[in-house]
Amino acid sequence: MKTGDDIRAMLLAVADTMQANRDALCRLDGVIGDADHGIAMAGGFRAVAEALSETAGATPAEVLNIAAKSFLNAVGASSGPLYATGFMRAAAAVKGKDSLADSDAATLIAAMAEGIAHRGKAGPGDKTMLDAWGPAAEAASAHQGGFAETFAIAADAAEAGAEATALMQARLGRAARLGARSVGHKDPGAASAALMLRAMADASN
Ligand SMILES: [Mg+2]
Repeated sequence: MKTGDDIRAMLLAVADTMQANRDALCRLDGVIGDADHGIAMAGGFRAVAEALSETAGATPAEVLNIAAKSFLNAVGASSGPLYATGFMRAAAAVKGKDSLADSDAATLIAAMAEGIAHRGKAGPGDKTMLDAWGPAAEAASAHQGGFAETFAIAADAAEAGAEATALMQARLGRAARLGARSVGHKDPGAASAALMLRAMADASN
């Protein structure tokens, strides 16, 4: 069982991870984008962490909606509305629950992936964060265990998905302008998605 405070702890862990990986994500984005992805993710989750500092006792859905709103307000880059939509979908999927069961882990991950796919209009193989979130959602739904176990399985799939983006040619966003030159470089959005899921898995133990 996970409460809103547990979900908050998972998001605070993501904030720490994004801060620690901020420069690496910027370097990754610098190869095929505009070098700001680490700044967007670290800044966005710092805002989430600050917004969640006075939410003790909030429900999981309330925590996720606060995360959505604060991330959107803090991030002007494309990842802002994508993660805001993902978090809002995740909130809607567990609305009204005071605590979450093991099976809700896969529900949350699937809702995040659906929200991101809907908002970004990306498909599999477009070399975006969806190439991490899509496999993560599939793996989580197919191999459900405890909360931490399900998130760890999703993180494994997201890491493999992020690695696979190196072989893809970008079809969306700034990287698409590079055409075939985008091949050979991992997508920064997929890389940060994998970091996010790993941090959430580790923090839900
Ligand atoms: Mg960028």
